[in-house]
Amino acid sequence: MHKKSIVELSASLAKAEISSVELTQHYLKRIKQYNKNLNAFITVIEEQAMQQARLADQRRAKQEYVTPLTGIPIAHKDIFSTKDVLTSCGSRMLSNYIPPYNASIVEKLQDAGMVLLGKTNMDEFAMGSSNENSYYGSVRNPWNPDYVPGGSSGGSAAAVASRIIPCATGTDTGGSIRQPASLCGITGLKPTYGRLSRHGMIAYASSLDSGGILTGNAEDTALLFNYLACFDPKDSTSIQQPTPDYTAKLNQPLDKLRIGIPTEYLAHDLNPDVLNALEQAKSIFLSMGVTFKSISLPHTHLAIPVYYLVSCAECASNLARYDGVRYGYRCKHPKDLTDLYFRSRSEGFGSEVKRRILAGTYTLSGSSYDTHYRRVKRMRHVISNDYQNAFKEVDVILGPTAPTPAFRLGEKLKDPITMYLSDIFTVSNNLAGVPGISIPAGFSSNLPIGIQITGNHFTEAKLLNIAHQFQQQTDWHKRIPEQFA
Ligand code: GLN
Repeated sequence: MHKKSIVELSASLAKAEISSVELTQHYLKRIKQYNKNLNAFITVIEEQAMQQARLADQRRAKQEYVTPLTGIPIAHKDIFSTKDVLTSCGSRMLSNYIPPYNASIVEKLQDAGMVLLGKTNMDEFAMGSSNENSYYGSVRNPWNPDYVPGGSSGGSAAAVASRIIPCATGTDTGGSIRQPASLCGITGLKPTYGRLSRHGMIAYASSLDSGGILTGNAEDTALLFNYLACFDPKDSTSIQQPTPDYTAKLNQPLDKLRIGIPTEYLAHDLNPDVLNALEQAKSIFLSMGVTFKSISLPHTHLAIPVYYLVSCAECASNLARYDGVRYGYRCKHPKDLTDLYFRSRSEGFGSEVKRRILAGTYTLSGSSYDTHYRRVKRMRHVISNDYQNAFKEVDVILGPTAPTPAFRLGEKLKDPITMYLSDIFTVSNNLAGVPGISIPAGFSSNLPIGIQITGNHFTEAKLLNIAHQFQQQTDWHKRIPEQFA
C-alpha cells in the first residue's frame, strides 16, 4: 500500500478496494516498526486516528462530504497547533502545551476528511538545517541513519521518504521544506508568502514563514494544494486570490517554457554530484522543448547574512512571549519574578534558539537598529528586485536545492556558520516571498539530490506542472530506501 501515491490510494478508496481503517492501520504499523530508529515522530495518536478513519469510511459509504483526500493519512509538523494534541515545536518550552484550537491548515485538511496520525519531529522553533536542534533528539535520514535528514521539517521529510506516512505538512522560513525534501529524496513545495494560512502555525520569523507540504511526487502535492491554498481572514497576511485547480494544470506542455539558471549558482562551490544532477535535469528539460537562458541574481551572496539578520530579529520578538507565566515551560521554585523569567527561558530554550534570540535582540537594540536592521531591510528589497528582473527574461529559475547531499550527524554542529550556508539556495525565495519546489533529481552514492524550481508570486500551478512533467520522464521520486520498501 505504501508504495502507492496519494492519487492511487484515493482511487482505491473510491473503488472500495481498501478502507481508510485498513490504510490507517497499515501506516500506524509502519510507524511502530520504523519510528524507533528514525525518530521522525514526536507524537502518534493511534486511537484518534482510528476514530477518524472509521468516520472517513462512513463518509465514503454514505457519499457525504467526500473529497479525494477523505480517508488518507497525514502527519503534521509539530509547529502546527492541533486541538487537544501536544504541539511542542520541538522545544522543551512547549513540551507541555496542548492547544485549545486547530491551525487553519489542520482544520482544512480535517474538513477534507484526512486522517491525522501524529506530529513530526523538527528543529526547535524551526531553527536549523539538520534536525539536530530538537528537544526530542535528532531525526535520522532514511537513506543512511548516520546522516541528517535536513531541517527544520526533518521529521516530516524522513517520515515521507520512508513511506511511514504518505504526506506531511512542513514550514519553510528559509528552506525548511525544500532542503529536507532534497536531502531525503522527496517533493517539497514552499508556496508564495501569504498563499497558505499562518493561523495556528507557531511563529519563528513572521515575514518569512510559509506553511507547505512534503509528498512523494508533484501530482500528490497538487492534489493537497487544492485544499490548502485559500484566503483566511484569521491571518492578516493571507492573500485574497482565487485558488486554481492545480491538478487540472499538471499536464500542460512545456515547449514554450523559458528556464533561467543563475550564473551565481554555478559559481558556487557545488558538490560535483549535485552539479551533475542539475546538468542531467537540464538535458531532460531540453528534450521536452524547454529553452534555457543564463541569468543573474547578482545579490545572491547577500542572501545568507540578510536572512539571518531578519530572521533572528523577528524570532527574538516572537519568542519574547514564552515567559514562563502564561503557558509553556515554567522553572521549579522561582525565587522571584525575575528569577522565574530568567530560569524558565534559560531552561526552556535550547542553545541554537538562545543564540538567535541574543543575535536578534542585539540587532533590534539601540543604534544597531539603524546600522543593521534598517539596512538589511533595504537589502531584502534589492534581493526581491533581482527576482523581478530575472522574471522579465524567463518564466522560472532552476538551481540546486542545497549545495551538497545530506551530511553526517554531528558534522556541522560545532560550526553554525557552515550550517547556515547549507541554505544558500533557499533563503532568497523567502526574502522575496516567491514560491519554490524541490524535486528529486539524482543520487550521490546512496544519498538523494534535489533540484529547485522557483517561480514568481502565485505561480505554484506552473511549478507543479513543470515538476510533474519532469517526474513523467524520470523515476528518482519513485525510489524508496531499501529497508523501507
Ligand atoms: N535553516 C534555516 C534556519 O535555520 C531555515 C529554517 C526554516 O526554514 N524554518 O533558519
